[in-house]
Amino acid sequence: MESKNGKTRFFTASDQDILDGRTTDVYFVRTVEVLKAKGMLHEEATAELTVARLPRDWKWSVFCGLEETLRLLEGKNVDLWGLPEGTISPSRTQSGVLLPLLTMEGVYTEYCTYEAPMLGFLCHSTGVATMAARCRKAAQDRPVIAFGVRRSHPAISPMLDRSSYIGGCDGVSSLMGAELIGRAPEGTIPHALIVMMGDPVTAFKAFDEVVSQDVPRIALVDTYSDEKAEAVAAAEAIKDLFAVRLDTPSSRRGSFSQLVREVRWELDIRGFKHVRIILSGGLDETTIPPLVEAGADGFGVGTSVTNAPTVDFALDIIERNGRPVAKRGKFGGRKYVYSCPDCLNYEVTASLEEVPLCMSCGKEMLRADVKLLDKGRRVQKQSSVEEIRERAMKQLTKMGDLDAHT
Ligand SMILES: [Zn+2]
Repeated sequence: MESKNGKTRFFTASDQDILDGRTTDVYFVRTVEVLKAKGMLHEEATAELTVARLPRDWKWSVFCGLEETLRLLEGKNVDLWGLPEGTISPSRTQSGVLLPLLTMEGVYTEYCTYEAPMLGFLCHSTGVATMAARCRKAAQDRPVIAFGVRRSHPAISPMLDRSSYIGGCDGVSSLMGAELIGRAPEGTIPHALIVMMGDPVTAFKAFDEVVSQDVPRIALVDTYSDEKAEAVAAAEAIKDLFAVRLDTPSSRRGSFSQLVREVRWELDIRGFKHVRIILSGGLDETTIPPLVEAGADGFGVGTSVTNAPTVDFALDIIERNGRPVAKRGKFGGRKYVYSCPDCLNYEVTASLEEVPLCMSCGKEMLRADVKLLDKGRRVQKQSSVEEIRERAMKQLTKMGDLDAHT
């Protein structure tokens, strides 16, 4: 496989390949070819990004992947409006119109071939961020750490960790992911260290002796024997033990909640009330809540987040040379997006003279989409990952049950 920057060792596209549109679908290239042959290279089109249906029973998504989209479109002769990265929204407005998260205006052939990479950034990142938010919600105020990069292609581990963090994970395990979000990577002890050292206590002591003091001591207590026996042994062996981690294999799990209660009890009666219990292994938004009830203090999430369902955003032309057009199932014409910051309801209008009212509280809504690119130049200053995450978390606290919209 030839990359624009020479041969790539792994099966990945280089930044330059993506910027050159080499990862796109061939039908976009042929579309440009036809438009060119018919003298239509300079026709204007407005296109909007919507999602007709969110995955599974999701009622909202956490918009993510916008920064990479802006980096892709910067320098192209297009105008772009949209909701900020980290926005939590349903797929439709309060009156049932598909909600445009981005609206792009310009010469169609200027952006036609970038549709595929743009959707790729947004669909994948939004799926991961939304799943992380669902786990965040399920874990209430307990920390959730993203441990899942090993389940996906390593080339995208920074994007996976960034999206997980924006969605509500409190930390990430990969070195590059942590660097991207400006935090120290987080981890515990792998089973491999215990197996290599021969037994858990020898491994915990060696870890405690060698690894920098600012790394919290978290002992993995399910390797060879019963969790409560290993937990007590770890607490006795390591002064200032921060936590024990249970990653009990599913074949031995029985009731994971009951196991947590037992370990908690055994630690407490021996004076180790300060030792927290952290759980990992196949956890998601449905398995976390009973474990919170049972007394778990934190969670490691992996595959459920990094392998989250993708959000099927589509980019559709809704105006051609200033006149409304739309395919079946889509609403034609340029739309202006409004929202109620209190109720998180959305509405669109066809003109800026009309200000919609929130159907929940009756108040006038506020304009929600902002101009992001002006002829390919950034209009807004780049948001930090921390700002994007805060924006998402502020909205997440207003979302009710996972299955309800508000
Ligand atoms: Zn309202």
